[in-house]
Amino acid sequence: MRNPLLEQICRNLLNIQGFSLRNCDDACRTKNGSTIMMIESTKPKVCPICNKSVSIYDHKNIVIQHGVLNGRPVFLEINLRRFDCPDCGIKTEQHEIFKANEHYSEELNDYVSFLSEKMSNKQVSEITSIPPSTVYNIDKRELEKRELRTKSIIPKVKRASIDEIGYKRGHTYATVLLNSDDCKIIDISKGKSKVSATELFNKYSYELSSLESISMDFSPSYINAALERWNSNCIVFDKFHFSRLVNKAVEGVRREIQKMFSDDDRIKCKKQVRWLMLRREKNFEVSHYKRLEQLKALNNDLYEVYILKEDLLSLFDGNHNRIDAKLYLKDWIKQARSTSYRQFHTLAKSIEKRLDLITNWFERRVTNAKAEATNNHIRTLIKRAYGYKNFDYFRLKVLQACGYLNLSATHST
Ligand SMILES: [Zn+2]
Repeated sequence: MRNPLLEQICRNLLNIQGFSLRNCDDACRTKNGSTIMMIESTKPKVCPICNKSVSIYDHKNIVIQHGVLNGRPVFLEINLRRFDCPDCGIKTEQHEIFKANEHYSEELNDYVSFLSEKMSNKQVSEITSIPPSTVYNIDKRELEKRELRTKSIIPKVKRASIDEIGYKRGHTYATVLLNSDDCKIIDISKGKSKVSATELFNKYSYELSSLESISMDFSPSYINAALERWNSNCIVFDKFHFSRLVNKAVEGVRREIQKMFSDDDRIKCKKQVRWLMLRREKNFEVSHYKRLEQLKALNNDLYEVYILKEDLLSLFDGNHNRIDAKLYLKDWIKQARSTSYRQFHTLAKSIEKRLDLITNWFERRVTNAKAEATNNHIRTLIKRAYGYKNFDYFRLKVLQACGYLNLSATHST
């Protein structure tokens, strides 16, 4: 006998069609902090193979987790019928509640994958009472499925950027290929070698077929991989990569100078000098000028390093053309060489070596300010997960958070 209220509970509360809460005393009970609901089919008795009306052979009770209600896990005890078909034999009735051999419903599967986009697997596990390893499996599988649908939505890329990022402790790197126009990550590959870059260039040869520029840092592996495919004037060292390189040199010099300080001076210096040295003068507030004066009084060498850095980076702020920029850089190289800082000598050497590529920027002004935001987004992701052990999963999570994988979700629903 069908009971409309029990069917409504199944349909509207549990979101299951064609089933009803069972009409018995313990159809909805609690056990060890969980809610268990017993349900059964309301569909006609037909053979799932030939569709003939058949009789029931026996029942099978299967328990699966279905969701969370008010913080409590909800389990379903499903009373599945087995039919005795004269033509096909004994067959279990069909349903869409869960996949064979799984301990959770499809509904919960989708909920876990939805939550995993927003929080760490550990947090999803705490909310849903699903073990972290299962959360991981669900999330990874769903992202893999989603990826099969995404390649078609990656646009033709005009301006790209390639960069390395560490995703695991112990200097494990990945190569990130980014579309500079919408700041979405096209894909990432393992390692930071020429092979890593070539792998990406080959995989997206169609999407990259009308590429105008690709920005990168001074990494010879990326440069060589790009030179195999594109003309050298496509390669751009953008401001972002360039200032990272310069800042690295500044940091090195600062550390070396600080080593020679007395303990008192070092403490005085330590707190604020580092960030002051890296800050661009164009972003100064009044207090920063005062601190720069203090720095000059404390140590003239550090002040000199600061001025040299500003001289170099301010080149990118002006309206120089390529020829001017080249002269300016040559002059800067001379100045850097006249100092006694090893790090600046090295920097001058790399700038000199890549002078043509660096000045490409003054013809193709790529600004990758948003790329930095994307990089920070990936770092947050890594921090949230305490690093990723599995590269394939890390890759999918990055593409979900900063790539085209998240778009496919809205497209498909
Ligand atoms: Zn049959």
